[in-house]
Amino acid sequence: MHLNLLVLPGDGIGTEVTRQAVAVLRHVAAKWNHSLRITEGLLGGVAIHKTGTPLPPETERLAADADATLMGAVGLPEFDNVAPEKRPEKGLLGIRKLLGVYANLRPVRAYASQLDSSPLKNHLVEGTDMIIVRELTGGIYYGTPRGITENGAEVRAVNTMTYTRSEIERVARMAFSLAGSRRKKVTSVDKSNVLENSQLWRRVVTEVAREFPDIELDHILVDNCAMQLILNPRRFDVVLTENMFGDILSDEGAVLAGSIGMLPSASIGPKRPSGAWVGLYEPVHGSAPDIAGQNKANPLGAIGSVGAMLEYSFGLKKEASAVDAAIEAVLRSGRVTADLRPPGAPATTEEVGEAICAAV
Ligand code: NAD
Repeated sequence: MHLNLLVLPGDGIGTEVTRQAVAVLRHVAAKWNHSLRITEGLLGGVAIHKTGTPLPPETERLAADADATLMGAVGLPEFDNVAPEKRPEKGLLGIRKLLGVYANLRPVRAYASQLDSSPLKNHLVEGTDMIIVRELTGGIYYGTPRGITENGAEVRAVNTMTYTRSEIERVARMAFSLAGSRRKKVTSVDKSNVLENSQLWRRVVTEVAREFPDIELDHILVDNCAMQLILNPRRFDVVLTENMFGDILSDEGAVLAGSIGMLPSASIGPKRPSGAWVGLYEPVHGSAPDIAGQNKANPLGAIGSVGAMLEYSFGLKKEASAVDAAIEAVLRSGRVTADLRPPGAPATTEEVGEAICAAV
């Protein structure tokens, strides 16, 4: 198969983990005789420095041409106090919108060998295996009106949470379809006791559920969900939620998995005529300025994102399973970065990447 992809390393540890993820992808491609075309583009703080904008038109063009996009992370502390429009993160929101990737899939698994790296008690996390499906291109991060207005001494800030029936339907269908190949349970998360937006969410999800009679559906309020994720994570199979709730809850998933550096994500859009999903793949973590440039970052989230790319964008299930199996083997070997608190000396980002290639 010919794999044509765009890589956007971004800022901070984004560049470090992406390098390892690409090395793993090259390894997989060589082993299974796939040809690779990799183009690199600018996104985030590095793009602002070089072009004045976080999502340059050239990157937009490259993303439209690629079959899949692999991203690192964006964000630099020097932009912390600038307006949202001018921040590196604007590039991230922009590319998600550009590609129309409306469903963000975040698998959260507690690997048996890593139970001790979670701050929770082993018996609570053991056996956790869920996937959070977060709506990605709607809700309060994109709704208008938005902005800050000043009126004399008073200042007012407004953000708007909006969803349409069709936006909810398509992400709900994605969640129910995924549940079909898992434990057949969808938990939809909302705040319908307070927000009209959530009332529509619950109504539409309930309607979509009728198309999937073999999938069980339950609803949970977001505040209770935050608690149940910690108290009883095994109760969840597919967790379906809107953009901001998903953003927040999936960081809780990091606690279950042991480190945010472990978590991959796949953002999926409409199907191409070829049958492949449009996909944007990235680790869940940010650019981690506190450890950037030190060869300390855990590359497994980025490497897991390559596995997801192989599966969802290219339909290469065997290759995707090989990446997952390599991650599991390396975790078992104890050759992991400092965030997973290994008993011996921690491995570097590069060493973990090399170990994964060897395991593949
Ligand atoms: P972060 O995810 O970058 O870091 C949070 C903590 O987790 C830090 O202590 C960091 O050292 C640690 N960490 C993160 N990834 C790790 C890894 N792979 N290995 C080991 N440890 C890891 O979140 P933050 O500190 O809130 O944000 C830093 C910057 O990243 C900000 O500019 C923020 O806007 C941006 N950000 C970007 C994305 C993205 O690009 N998708 C996501 C979140 C935050």
